[in-house]
Amino acid sequence: MKFAADRMLGKLAKQLRTLGYDTLYFSTLSNERFLALADEDRILLSRNTRLVGKIAPEKLIFVEANDPKKQLHDLVRFLGLKPDPNKFFSRCTVCNGLLEPVKPQDVVGKVPDHIWTGVNRFSECSGCGRIYWPGSHTVRIREEIGELLNKS
Ligand SMILES: [Zn+2]
Repeated sequence: MKFAADRMLGKLAKQLRTLGYDTLYFSTLSNERFLALADEDRILLSRNTRLVGKIAPEKLIFVEANDPKKQLHDLVRFLGLKPDPNKFFSRCTVCNGLLEPVKPQDVVGKVPDHIWTGVNRFSECSGCGRIYWPGSHTVRIREEIGELLNKS
């Protein structure tokens, strides 16, 4: 399942990317171009009440909650999503690009020295080149996701 989030849903888009879902997000995009993303077989996520009714109802989900965690929780429950743990952290949260494993020697100078010496698994975004590595935040996010899925 693929998504496109409107410009009020940047945090939700990041969370979906963390779970591995292909999610487009642009901070500036006209309503027309946003609605056109539904043609790419994407479900549109929006907080804009004016868009409701402009497109087939099954193509657009109106997000009611303000809090990004609640937004994700509601969406997971509404769509009955079963996020695949193997896909967690497989996508760049910044640009939606897929992450590819890279060797430690390939990221010399691209990550802080203390990270490079302490970590042996790195991945690089195929879209923007950002380097990712497992760290304390990944543990925390996995816990949050676990909690989220248990609640729903
Ligand atoms: Zn990227």
